[in-house]
Amino acid sequence: MIQSTYTPSGEYSGSVRSSYDVIVIGGGPAGATVSALLAEYGHDVLVLERHSIPRFHVGESLIPETYWTLQRLGLIDELKASAFPKKFSVQFVSDGWKESAPFYFDMHNSHESAQTWQVERADFDKMLIENAVRKGANIRTGAQVLEVLFEGDRAVGVRVKLTGAGDAETVTQEIKAPVVIDASGTSAFLANRLKLKVSDPCLQKGTIWTYFKGAQRDPGKDEGATLILQTEGKRSWFWYIPLRDDVVSIGCTGAMNYMFSKGTTPEATYQRELARCPYLQKRLVNATRCMDYFTTRDYSYRSTQAAGNGWVLCGDAFGFVDPVYSSGVYLALKGGEIVADTVHEALESKDFSGAKLGAWHDGYVEGLDNFKKLVYAFYTPGFSFGNFMREHPQYRSNLIDILVGAVFKPGVSDIFKAMGDVMPPSDREEPVAM
Ligand SMILES: Cc1cc2nc3c(=O)[nH]c(=O)nc-3n(C[C@H](O)[C@H](O)[C@H](O)COP(=O)(O)OP(=O)(O)OC[C@H]3O[C@@H](n4cnc5c(N)ncnc54)[C@H](O)[C@@H]3O)c2cc1C
Repeated sequence: MIQSTYTPSGEYSGSVRSSYDVIVIGGGPAGATVSALLAEYGHDVLVLERHSIPRFHVGESLIPETYWTLQRLGLIDELKASAFPKKFSVQFVSDGWKESAPFYFDMHNSHESAQTWQVERADFDKMLIENAVRKGANIRTGAQVLEVLFEGDRAVGVRVKLTGAGDAETVTQEIKAPVVIDASGTSAFLANRLKLKVSDPCLQKGTIWTYFKGAQRDPGKDEGATLILQTEGKRSWFWYIPLRDDVVSIGCTGAMNYMFSKGTTPEATYQRELARCPYLQKRLVNATRCMDYFTTRDYSYRSTQAAGNGWVLCGDAFGFVDPVYSSGVYLALKGGEIVADTVHEALESKDFSGAKLGAWHDGYVEGLDNFKKLVYAFYTPGFSFGNFMREHPQYRSNLIDILVGAVFKPGVSDIFKAMGDVMPPSDREEPVAM
């Protein structure tokens, strides 16, 4: 067993053995969940994370269905006791200023899971990792996986560069395991190396985001609400996520070549889009930006394969669909849970085939596709959720089901029968004109 001892410098240090039952690449929500649950099953798990913990990460807004995995992990009381703002609803603002009524999750579901949280990911992800350590997972930070080792077509371990506290100098080490779980996030370590990653041509988006202090918040129950604000002309949209200490995360997303055209800076583009969003400007009158601008792009993709002999993908390492409905952490947690159960069965039966390790694929993709179709509708010119709901009020609960993350619920996809083929044009053809 390595010592998963956390030092003030943010390192889980110590030497690493030459073999484990399972190696997990990445200590984000997917890696932390899958390793916590496998350790709970009694398996010998090693998580290799290249950064120190806590580490900064985009993606602060949770959706209600995260509750069930967080409950299984035993973290609900810790979240309740935290200072993370409570989120009861999401509200859409179209064309820069037209507010829709908020979607209050508890009008749909009276269970306490209808309320969720807005979280700084550094602290939330640290909470998940600490929980995995408590359950017996071994964590090594400063551990950059360089290669997944194969014998024939079977993954048998990894080659990793280990740095940080406890090591006099950087060392490269081979570690063996019958199962390698890739939870490396958008790095998509294995999908990239095995050329399985397919980027979505209709979702070639880019995002610029930053943080403000002193932005206007609604009172009471609405204080922690996520706002999704389309700009005038709908070339982009902003998220508005209230965090602790009067900080708000505000990010702007649009077609990649529109957001990152030559000769402009992220700040100039962000301000250009803010000028198209009067509703948001109003909220920022007394606000001060308190962080740099961050950028990210081309994050909607999927792997054509979920697993192979001795390896399996988990969370963003398998796929991600656009940030608009805040589905990422939920899918990372849910994916972590599903992959943990699958790998546990594989370890029990000693069947490490791709068929066994990827047995979760079809059911999971059905859920993922429900998010994807709703994302497509959001970006389809001329499509209006307001009009759709007026014409098809019977699908309101299906819509809320998807917004809260109940994408695996039987019948939830019926809404798409009425919605038809909503398909945004390819972003690769998006003109750059301002
Ligand atoms: C613009 C944007 C906004 C978003 N907003 C939201 C939101 O509001 N709500 C939400 O739920 N989701 C949001 N997401 C998505 C969310 O952030 C991700 O879906 C989530 O972090 C996925 O978790 P993960 O564990 O799969 O990957 P990650 O959280 O990315 O974790 C992967 C880990 O693997 C490590 N790693 C990578 N390569 C290696 C290697 N070779 N060796 C060792 N370690 C490695 C990384 O350092 C990282 O810590 C957003 C995403 C984007 C792009």
